Amino acid sequence: MVESKEFLKLILDTISEHIVVINELGDIIFVNRSWQTFGDENNCDCDIQWQKQNYLAICKSAAIQGDDFGIKALAGLNKVINNQEPEFYLEYPCHSDIEKRWFMMRAVPLEYNAQRFVVISHLNITERKLAEQQVQELAHIDGLTQIANRRHFDDFYEQEWSRCMRLKLPISLAMIDLDNFKLLNDNFGHVVGDTCLKEVAKILPDYARRPGDLCARYGGEEFILVLGNTHCLQAQMLLTRFMAELTALKLPELAGHPLTVSIGLATLVPNVADNAMQLIEMADNALYQAKDTGRNKLVVADHYPQTNKEECP
Ligand code: GH3
Ligand code: MG
Ligand code: MG
Repeated sequence: MVESKEFLKLILDTISEHIVVINELGDIIFVNRSWQTFGDENNCDCDIQWQKQNYLAICKSAAIQGDDFGIKALAGLNKVINNQEPEFYLEYPCHSDIEKRWFMMRAVPLEYNAQRFVVISHLNITERKLAEQQVQELAHIDGLTQIANRRHFDDFYEQEWSRCMRLKLPISLAMIDLDNFKLLNDNFGHVVGDTCLKEVAKILPDYARRPGDLCARYGGEEFILVLGNTHCLQAQMLLTRFMAELTALKLPELAGHPLTVSIGLATLVPNVADNAMQLIEMADNALYQAKDTGRNKLVVADHYPQTNKEECP
């Protein structure tokens, strides 16, 4: 029985991977039932006769239309056909109108009757991809406040710094630190402290709306705001409005006590790739000045010697 062609074909039809076998020219000579079903469900032409199609031509047509995965698939399959690679893997998206889907394509050669074939299987890896995406997103979000975390900020800031340097645009950076937060925790408890951090994180994104902006929790009771293509005066106006909105909050948990912050703001037109840290240092120094001179205020950083300072009175 195991030698029967029909029996072996039936086994292939039970496999959930979509399997297609092509010859050296790319002509499809076999598809299993999963392939047929997936094709029927995803093609307008449900009567498509796979055995009359050429797999390489399908990849080529996708490649010509600029599909990056079509280009990669074509190159990889040709290498397997020409015996340059023993196998080929490719993970690719295949989203439908209603759901996101990813597949892994695997191609391996097969010799039979002195002829060369390639067995191509497509495995649905959507569950794994979605889980990976979720982990990726969670890794960039601060658990308490649900805004970007320090890691997300680092990645974003590096990119935005490079963009502003390339386009010779100003970039503004604000370090925002809650005032007397230790005292607040001591007086009202850590749960109320946490509520205050969440309240700040609710308001702050309203001041970081453009694609070149990001607000993040930098650590403890410190937040950071990066504003790409933003002049110092624009940033100052924005932050002044933020401070006013925060002070006006009057959280019932704080029994009428206002929640205030001190802010250090710095702006530069980046001219050297590795001086992104200088802007952070400038903002940090300005923040210390704000703390030293009474808190609940915004201080704009002084000129940094080696860099271009944005004009800001
Ligand atoms: P300053 O005005 O000089 O910034 O004083 P401060 O008390 O805010 O600063 P300090 O650095 O002395 O204390 C920071 C406090 O922030 C201490 C720490 O317990 C509290 N804190 C840090 N992270 C959290 C948090 O996630 N939740 C709560 N409730 N408190 C936090
Ligand atoms: Mg503080
Ligand atoms: Mg602090």
